[in-house]
Amino acid sequence: MLGSLARRLRWLGYDAEYRNDLSDGEMIALARREGRVLITRDRGLANRRAWREDGHRLYLAETDLEAQVRAIMAALGPPPGPSRCIVCNGELDPLAPAEAAPLVPPYVAQTQTEFVRCRRCRRVYWPGTHLAGLEAWRP
Ligand SMILES: [Zn+2]
Repeated sequence: MLGSLARRLRWLGYDAEYRNDLSDGEMIALARREGRVLITRDRGLANRRAWREDGHRLYLAETDLEAQVRAIMAALGPPPGPSRCIVCNGELDPLAPAEAAPLVPPYVAQTQTEFVRCRRCRRVYWPGTHLAGLEAWRP
């Protein structure tokens, strides 16, 4: 449900993991272990007693994506770093145009000069008009 929000948060520079395959207890344990704030639209999960005690949870009442982003920025402060991979949340490293050229479609290599590559999934990104300002290509 919050997958598109996770992508937006990554693009903004938040370290945003997204899981929909874990139980509530597993999610809480993972967030604790990694020092994360758990963001949920599940009021029951947000209100679990063990969770409320350490304060690292944020219940999102908003349903609109833009309003959700504003609520998170108000609660957590500005993004801590540069954009992350919107697909896997990996960190992005600059990539020289000559290195990027064989990894992207020819028209992109001819027209773009700025590239970054995900450390985790190896996707290459460049400034674009889709996907909230970035376009991706997985070699
Ligand atoms: Zn990635």
